[in-house]
Amino acid sequence: MGLDIHLMHQMINGIGDRVKIGIRFLAEARYADILEGYDCKFADVLEKYFEEYFGQAINYYKGHHFQALQCVWPDKRGLFPGDPDFPENLRNKQTPVTTSERASKISREVSSHAHKFSKEEWPFRDAENTASFTTTCVVRENFPVLLVSHDEEGDWQFLCGTTNSSKDCLIVCLGCAFERDRSIGELADLPLGWQARRKSKDLPWERAPAPASE
Ligand SMILES: [Zn+2]
Repeated sequence: MGLDIHLMHQMINGIGDRVKIGIRFLAEARYADILEGYDCKFADVLEKYFEEYFGQAINYYKGHHFQALQCVWPDKRGLFPGDPDFPENLRNKQTPVTTSERASKISREVSSHAHKFSKEEWPFRDAENTASFTTTCVVRENFPVLLVSHDEEGDWQFLCGTTNSSKDCLIVCLGCAFERDRSIGELADLPLGWQARRKSKDLPWERAPAPASE
């Protein structure tokens, strides 16, 4: 909302391209690669705005059973709508923005889609469309996954070991992660709270309980 129409087209298409390869954007997380030079965030859109903004989606889903996110942009200081000092004129350009009105709800699933492996090849107990975590380096630059973590809460993380920054974190479908690198399938029985590391793509996984600090 509220920027040059061509720029907004470019932004939404960039977001769409990433959604197509299985990346999921989260409310409240910051993303450095949507608008050049600025971090953007996503805000949950309240259902009361659905009729006004999401006619096509309502037709498609035959009702209001979907979640909508608004991409919000900062001022020159990096403040966002909802921050105490954010200028009101910039806030008004970004109607509806509902950042502070509802706690963000993180879905543990991505929308399901087809993968290039058969049901028999699927090694995990989790569903193929389970949301998992990886890094931009793995998805965009083909860095090998060298650290796999199966968190106490059940989340899977497939990390390259070169970055720990939250801006490099991406949500991908577990099925897509397996499609990209079948060797993570060997870790399907990794217990909760355990990690597996390897020094390179060709070396075997070494398993150990996650260090207490992580
Ligand atoms: Zn997938």
